[in-house]
Amino acid sequence: MSTSVLVINCGSSSIKYALVSDLRENRIYGIAENLNSADARIKGITFGGQPLELSIPYADHSQALETILNRLSHYKPQAIGHRVVHGGSLTKAELLTPEIIEKIREATPLAPLHNPAHLIGIEATLKLFPELPQVAVFDTAFHQTMPEHAYRYALPKFLYTEHNVRRYGFHGTSHAYVTDRASELAGDFRKGGWLCAHLGNGSSTCAVWNGESIDTSMGLTPLEGIVMGTRSGDVDPSLHSFLASNLGWDIEKIDNMLNKESGLLGLSNLSNDMRTLVEASQAGNEDATLAIEVFSYRLAKSLAALSCGLPTINGLAFTGGIGENSAYIREKTLAYLPHFSFKLDKALNNNLARGSEGRIDQGEGPQIWVIPTDEEGRIAQETRAVVDA
Ligand code: AMP
Repeated sequence: MSTSVLVINCGSSSIKYALVSDLRENRIYGIAENLNSADARIKGITFGGQPLELSIPYADHSQALETILNRLSHYKPQAIGHRVVHGGSLTKAELLTPEIIEKIREATPLAPLHNPAHLIGIEATLKLFPELPQVAVFDTAFHQTMPEHAYRYALPKFLYTEHNVRRYGFHGTSHAYVTDRASELAGDFRKGGWLCAHLGNGSSTCAVWNGESIDTSMGLTPLEGIVMGTRSGDVDPSLHSFLASNLGWDIEKIDNMLNKESGLLGLSNLSNDMRTLVEASQAGNEDATLAIEVFSYRLAKSLAALSCGLPTINGLAFTGGIGENSAYIREKTLAYLPHFSFKLDKALNNNLARGSEGRIDQGEGPQIWVIPTDEEGRIAQETRAVVDA
């Protein structure tokens, strides 16, 4: 059996965890949520697929991690892999040392909501399990292969050289896993050009050439790019001064609106949840219909734009909650890409079972795949590679 790795994804008030060993079906996983409140609890799946629900009132990150690890004690992990959103200039997964922790701290201005929470988790697990090797796996690392013409903004140079203002990209573990898997299933592992659409509450696109990211839709932060659940994606950068001058909004209000009140939620004025919007649209809600149309069109436009970096296109892979489950959005998106020779097989698209991977094209033109993402599996794989090196 391969090394079992505990994968931890620490947020400000929650910790997602997964014990990754051999088969994906045997995975133990869950979430500790509402930390530091009376309502703090752990919910998940434990040994033998049994559901777990445990109240841990007022538990902090450290106490929640201790509870999680105690419950896994007869199946102790041999290593811990931490998901870290922003690795700054770090280009690959790294064993956690004081120097690497300092680099994660230095990247905090670039991910002010995420990196401080990851650091809390890292410090807690290092104290609790000093004997276990621990690795940080960065969302940004996969995109460090982007060429400079893809990652630089057309801004004054000093903002890049002195303040690290550049495009980083996110969802790297997902894009890496999904395009590796798609190219493997296509029989040409890490060869040729792949487009990837990770469509969840956060969404991004990526172009991959011979297994390396060459461009992606997210930038300095995860706000750039395509329409998301509550995030706007690309807007005219002058929107900020327009709102400040005309509505008197300050930067915090604008930032909040763009991150939390926009996207599918803002357009539909109803929900950030694609399932709700598809149902509402079918019932005649015009705002929901428009939100779906903007989402699909902007997604197609982003894929078309990213294709500029690929000498050829072997295929396109859909993933994330929407990409994996919505045949309707996949079909709509492809309909907005009429010049790419994609030939969707509508029956295969509509009949693909929930949660399964499958090819949904007619067997000619670039391949089209649905690949359920496995960020935890990829983090565990990268953690093992670092530990075994
Ligand atoms: P994620 O962040 O990857 O968990 O994805 C969450 C998104 O997936 C939400 O917008 C859900 O509405 C969406 N989703 C899940 N199942 C479906 C479905 N069958 N049809 C459309 N959207 C779905």
